[in-house]
Amino acid sequence: MVWAPTRLTVLAGPSGVGKGTVAALIAERYPKVYLSISATTRRPRPGEVEAVSYFFISRAAFEAAVVAGDMLEWAEYNGHLYGTPRLAVEDALGAGRPALLEIDLAGARQIRQSMPGALQVFLMPPTWKELERRLIARGTEDEGQRLLRLATAEREVRARGEFDFVLTNDDLDRTVTRLAAIMGLD
Ligand code: 5GP
Repeated sequence: MVWAPTRLTVLAGPSGVGKGTVAALIAERYPKVYLSISATTRRPRPGEVEAVSYFFISRAAFEAAVVAGDMLEWAEYNGHLYGTPRLAVEDALGAGRPALLEIDLAGARQIRQSMPGALQVFLMPPTWKELERRLIARGTEDEGQRLLRLATAEREVRARGEFDFVLTNDDLDRTVTRLAAIMGLD
């Protein structure tokens, strides 16, 4: 199958698998790619920057944006709302740029419905132990949040068969190269 040159790619996979790092490297190596900046109601982690990591907004503002139709997709993940601002993605695609969304399973399913032509990629950890290790090493979640995320991860991993491609993130550089190839980037 030949992919259309301009398209939307969804990158999903469990928390801690390295989606953010992979997506950031794609955007760095291929500046034409528009990496969507999501909105969220969760609090910033140390080091996260407003309008770079996320748009950190209130629940009221988020809900108003949903009602206004300004979210391309959105989902509740472990008690917080996350969504993709529609306009920036549509502008990028309209300008002929490939766009990349790093989102959760529920969001990926919405995009599958609303934009069936989007490429759907799922990132897998090399092993379950490694995912646990990465979540602990990241040190950004307390024990309760980590357990919640691992439970969510199990549900997400079970759904990997819904995706067009499943990549195992055992080597960061190789994962980025493979994703770029799947996205038709050069
Ligand atoms: P985190 O709190 O670790 O930044 O993100 C938690 C989960 O929310 C991750 O699986 C991440 O991919 C997902 N996420 C981030 N932005 C969005 C978004 O805009 N929409 C959806 N549906 N999920 C998102």
